[in-house]
Amino acid sequence: MTTSTPPRIAVIGAGPGGLTCARILQRAGIPVTVHEHDSAPDSRDQGGTLDMQRTTGQAALRAAGLLERFSAIARPEGQDMSTLDKHATVLAEHVAGPDEHDSPEIDRADLRALLLDSLDPGTVRFGETLDHVVPLGRGVHELRFRDGGTATTDLLIGADGAWSKVRSLVSPARPFYEGVMFIEIRFDDVDRKHPRIAELVGRGGMFAMQDEKALIAQRQARDRIRAYVAFRADQGWADGLDAATVRASLLAMFADWSPRLRALLTDCDDAFIPRPLHALPVPHVWNTRAGVTILGDAAHLMSPFSGLGANTAMLDGAELAQAVIGSADLFTALADYEAVMLPRAAANAADSHEALHSALTAGLPDLDHLADGDRATAASG
Ligand SMILES: Cc1cc2nc3c(=O)[nH]c(=O)nc-3n(C[C@H](O)[C@H](O)[C@H](O)COP(=O)(O)OP(=O)(O)OC[C@H]3O[C@@H](n4cnc5c(N)ncnc54)[C@H](O)[C@@H]3O)c2cc1C
Repeated sequence: MTTSTPPRIAVIGAGPGGLTCARILQRAGIPVTVHEHDSAPDSRDQGGTLDMQRTTGQAALRAAGLLERFSAIARPEGQDMSTLDKHATVLAEHVAGPDEHDSPEIDRADLRALLLDSLDPGTVRFGETLDHVVPLGRGVHELRFRDGGTATTDLLIGADGAWSKVRSLVSPARPFYEGVMFIEIRFDDVDRKHPRIAELVGRGGMFAMQDEKALIAQRQARDRIRAYVAFRADQGWADGLDAATVRASLLAMFADWSPRLRALLTDCDDAFIPRPLHALPVPHVWNTRAGVTILGDAAHLMSPFSGLGANTAMLDGAELAQAVIGSADLFTALADYEAVMLPRAAANAADSHEALHSALTAGLPDLDHLADGDRATAASG
């Protein structure tokens, strides 16, 4: 970038995509501010584990100068994956070798901490929720925050996730419900308190699927396991139900599954968190707008069956930052970034939609497809 006064750049959202973008800009000496809704880094549970793939998430971490630090805390053994049917018969198993680094796992909270620690203090302003944006012309925008604060930007980057407030500046698209419900369940202190669950899931992931239903479990750092119960349902399936009723309903739904697998439903904590899966229409495209763009889930929310959401959010963030650093003007940077990101996102989102629906329609996974290292992706996504 060749301007004498640095542009005023704001990133909305301190998820993996926004933080990667901010890190690379800041490392190149370009000032950036990140506005984040969460009141503090640890104000809410950051979710499960992510596999960082070599050509996407790891490539972004390399561009951010953080690959070594990532490798020091990542879990290569998390690439272990077993695929079972409802009788708990193992259909396929992958045991990660000591030198296998294609997609090691990292807890989402640890990834966020790694990225946050890499930024100058004060870069991320927690507790600043974007309410709406007022376009002032020529690519300049005024941000209005819920607490009454304002900021003016020459470049506004919407990394604010599925329900992005920035997205409406580039497109009218809204996420739709995929018709598939995930219920998240958890186990703490698994090796001591839940040895049979620890044995079932092993060092990595366990994916049991049949009859348009799935039980997907993954080991996290610090002796925890997080699992998802997946099935077709209305979006409001769990509305108003207490934990005992949800547990009983799930046990009835999985009545003919092996007791080894049903143990996931009987032994888990009382928190059953509904995560109805949403996606943006495919393809989601727009013409480049002056002074504003979006990345990650804001641009291409897709079902987690691709395992690509966080990975491509980070790649988007890295490529956008590199375009800003390398371009003569901001409009060219946005056009260059979107020319690569939009077709990639459309292809990934189409694959992800197809993977979700064929998995939950066809019953058993396509093991030929899953045998090539895609197993970890399919289950961790
Ligand atoms: C069950 C499940 C499992 C998944 N597993 C995987 C996986 O294994 N691998 C993978 O790659 N992906 C996975 N994903 C997808 C992945 O979680 C997302 O694609 C990824 O987090 C997107 O990153 P992001 O930075 O675009 O947005 P987010 O991570 O959603 O971050 C957005 C940030 O913006 C903030 N924000 C939102 N609105 C505002 C506002 N108005 N003002 C200020 N801040 C705001 C939010 O608080 C948040 O911190 C999974 C998703 C689900 C649901």
